[in-house]
Amino acid sequence: MSADLIDGKAFAATIREKVAGHVSRLAEDHALKPGLAVVLVGEDPASQVYVRNKARQTAEVGMASFEHRLPVETSEATLLGLIAQLNAAPEVHGILVQLPLPGHLDSDLVINAIAPEKDVDGFHISNVGLLATGQKAMVPCTPLGCLMMLRARCGDLSGKRAVVLGRSNIVGKPMAQLLLRDSCTVTIAHSRTREIEAVCRQAEILVAAVGRAQMVRGDWIGEGATVIDVGINRIAAPELGLREDGAVKTRLVGDVAFDEAIERAGAITPVPGGVGPMTIACLLANTVTACCRMNGLPEPEGLTA
Ligand code: NDP
Repeated sequence: MSADLIDGKAFAATIREKVAGHVSRLAEDHALKPGLAVVLVGEDPASQVYVRNKARQTAEVGMASFEHRLPVETSEATLLGLIAQLNAAPEVHGILVQLPLPGHLDSDLVINAIAPEKDVDGFHISNVGLLATGQKAMVPCTPLGCLMMLRARCGDLSGKRAVVLGRSNIVGKPMAQLLLRDSCTVTIAHSRTREIEAVCRQAEILVAAVGRAQMVRGDWIGEGATVIDVGINRIAAPELGLREDGAVKTRLVGDVAFDEAIERAGAITPVPGGVGPMTIACLLANTVTACCRMNGLPEPEGLTA
């Protein structure tokens, strides 16, 4: 058996199209333009790439993009001052502070200073609580993207046995909350879970978010399971040869041993091209949702949890 591929790149393109359609309706019917402010402190190269991609995609769907790049030595007071300004700015509907922040800044304090209704990353403690209690929340982008792909692939998730590997606040926990809200029977596995292979094998839906390259082997996967691989890991790839500087080339892999998994799974997301592209698409979706909620308008269909 060879699993169906869940094409996150194509799926993300359909989400962006829906977002763009909604953005133009908001402009025509209500003279509104959703705006996303991204705050980057310091010069972490990976963060710079993410921020550039976010700004480009925000503009492509017709939303306003506000970029704030601050030097690495920025004080907490300065950063909190900027967030207060963005909270009060009517043209800003979503605020994202790129993580990780430099070590001298308290991430929890900074994230919780964002107005919850503009917290498009869904990390503010109010949104965490709203999601956990089944209320209307801003939902973290990566788990939201995973949920959308699962619903599209499996239809009604009610009653399905779901295993989430990983319990981080960014991926594992909100993913489990979302699956529970869709009436799955949810197990969360982590580094202390015993017989983790057997736990995974029971899953009809397996979401892997551990950050360990190819940890989930083929025989961990139940026949026909739907596998969502959130992991992004860079490994040495000597088969690709050497770079100009003589170092071994690298490639990206997920938390799942893909070549083995496709022999057992019913469907699987590849890495790259699976969950990754969905994350930014869901950030755009959350910004439109935030704009609608703030203006008392109906939420866009198919773009929320
Ligand atoms: P964290 O490091 O915050 O959490 C990892 C989780 O995995 C922890 O709960 C940890 O358990 C668990 N874990 C680690 N090792 C093992 C093990 N050997 N067996 C079982 N469980 C284990 O990572 P994140 O949740 O932030 O990210 C997970 C992965 O997803 C990373 O590869 C990251 O790059 C990727 N990612 C991808 C995104 C995307 O857009 N596609 C977005 C966000 C993340 P414990 O709590 O017990 O330590």
